[in-house]
Amino acid sequence: MKSRRKFIKQLGLSVVSIPLASSVLKTQSCESPPVVNKFEKPNMPIILSTWSFGKIANQAGWDVLVNGGNALDAVESTAKFVEADLSQTSVGLGGWPDRDGFVTLDACIMDEKGNCGSVMFLENIMHPISVARLVMEKTPHIQLVGEGAQMFALENGFVLHDAPTEGSKKAWEKWKLENNYEPKISPENHDTIGVIALDKNGNLSGACTTSGLAFKMHGRVGDSPIIGAGLFVDNEVGAATATGTGEEVIRICGTHLVVELMRQGYTPVNACKEAVERIVKRSPRYTKEMIIGFLALNKKGEYGAYSTRKGFEYGVYDKVGSVLKTAEFMETY
Ligand code: ASP
Repeated sequence: MKSRRKFIKQLGLSVVSIPLASSVLKTQSCESPPVVNKFEKPNMPIILSTWSFGKIANQAGWDVLVNGGNALDAVESTAKFVEADLSQTSVGLGGWPDRDGFVTLDACIMDEKGNCGSVMFLENIMHPISVARLVMEKTPHIQLVGEGAQMFALENGFVLHDAPTEGSKKAWEKWKLENNYEPKISPENHDTIGVIALDKNGNLSGACTTSGLAFKMHGRVGDSPIIGAGLFVDNEVGAATATGTGEEVIRICGTHLVVELMRQGYTPVNACKEAVERIVKRSPRYTKEMIIGFLALNKKGEYGAYSTRKGFEYGVYDKVGSVLKTAEFMETY
């Protein structure tokens, strides 16, 4: 019975497929222009995030996108998912503190119209990304910092939370014993969630949030909350986000560079590669110990990533499903 039904089903499918196949053949045999491009659809919706926590968090953004929501809501949802996870030691209030014991958070967000908002050096607030969004939507400014950013958050209904967590405090105490109050950059003491998405309407947005380098100098701000460094979106071209040693990303205006290279025709992966190579070749301060990665998405939903060293992973969620990928990297390292 089962196999008969299967047979009928197969028969039905093949009956439907005959006219389609013949029309394709007809198009090919009369040597008309390559119509196949006319029907090529952009790969959307799609959401991409840095690191393995990004792969898990992409579900939150995908749920928004697949239900017809916009890219801005999607990237905020994914970023919030990681911020709320106190077991993450490089994002949100679970982040490891600076060298004086304070957890200070940086975030930014950008939409398809070029609107953007950013908070830096923000303390005791669980969702810096949502504060950044409110800076974008409710103020004439783009960046709010420190106490001013916290005051703005409280005025808008956010509440204060304790930080650091017990676990982070222990890590800091251990660090104090083993280090000479020296801020150090190593691949083990930082990571950021950078999220970029293209929605069903073909609009791009991005979000980026981090607690920055662990045991950094008090007041240090990296690339993550800086538009054009940690995140950039141009709805005509594409979007990019960065992770890794922020100082190096700022020096080349990293994500702005990646998007501009895509405008010139670079594929997402080649644009990321060029940005990485520029850092490695030109910065006298660059060391092989640093990991710096870029992740990019263009208007067609094509994406790519590249990093200085092996180990940069990113999550992709599109109609094919959710996967964790490893970025290409410079072979010499
Ligand atoms: N870019 C972040 C910073 O410099 C850290 C990271 O993404 O690994 O604060």
